[in-house]
Amino acid sequence: MSRRLLAVLAGALLLAGCGSAGEPPNLTPRVTAERPTPANAEVSPEIDDVGSAADDCGDPTASLRPKGLATPRGSTMAEIKKRGILRVGVDQNTFLFGFRNPTTGTLEGFDIAIAQEIADALFGDPNRVRFKAITSQQRIDVLRDGAVDIVVRTMTINCERRELIEFSSVYFVAGQRVLVTKRSGYTGLDDLAGKRVCATTGSTSLVNIATAPSQPVPVAVDNWSDCLVLLQQGQVEAISTDDTILAGMAQQDPTTHVVGPRFTSEPYGVGIPKEDTDMVRYVNAVLQEVREDTWQAEYDRWIEPALGPGTPPEPTYE
Ligand code: GLU
Repeated sequence: MSRRLLAVLAGALLLAGCGSAGEPPNLTPRVTAERPTPANAEVSPEIDDVGSAADDCGDPTASLRPKGLATPRGSTMAEIKKRGILRVGVDQNTFLFGFRNPTTGTLEGFDIAIAQEIADALFGDPNRVRFKAITSQQRIDVLRDGAVDIVVRTMTINCERRELIEFSSVYFVAGQRVLVTKRSGYTGLDDLAGKRVCATTGSTSLVNIATAPSQPVPVAVDNWSDCLVLLQQGQVEAISTDDTILAGMAQQDPTTHVVGPRFTSEPYGVGIPKEDTDMVRYVNAVLQEVREDTWQAEYDRWIEPALGPGTPPEPTYE
């Protein structure tokens, strides 16, 4: 307790002692048992249809074919180079993919590494990036209003989203599962009928919880870390999202574990504004090199310890 706070408390006790003639001050500590709820948390929210990987529009992951790493005059890439910095929307709350290293204060993770590869291709310097921390819900808006050049944030490519933005080729394939406390005994989403299950607003995960046959009660929050706090406080029974995100939480809290099968496929792509098709081809050229070069090392560093061996996904092109 700070000295200043002690002084204030001592003052308050003195006042209480003097103020009421003869009556002893009430020193019973006041305890509030209310558990704080994260900002914007909602039980059974109205859910915007952000689509799911199962939508039918052909193959939403088929992207534009790369055409090399040239940055011709007038292109989106030339504009970014002129500005001198790549602006990227990322997560800062998801361990392993986009999180703030508490020791160094810098952002790290698999998605951060992908963003830095793109900056390195443009500038020959992986650090010429301005990161903007965004929620799941903000991903499409920041691209559409020009606040960032790209979004690299555990973002599933699907038909609904492709109507609003462009995507690069697939750089990672995750799948939705469930995280519970070990002592709860739950073994998957089927055990969670009528129970509260957390996911972020604007994620495919929330849609998949809301439409699950066992009918869990969806609880929506802004950030994945909010879900973990709600689980730890007993305010939700489970969290359900990509196995990648859940693996990070299970490492952060060893009293939790991931259960049940993968019940969706979540192919991640880099989000790009609709009009920037030159940038789509450019990012795909970078990803082509990344798959042959640094992908494996980044996977082995961040993901392999939790999810076992993996190899880069094959891109598909239109
Ligand atoms: N991959 C899912 C999505 O794009 C969930 C991950 C997230 O929202 O961060 O909606």
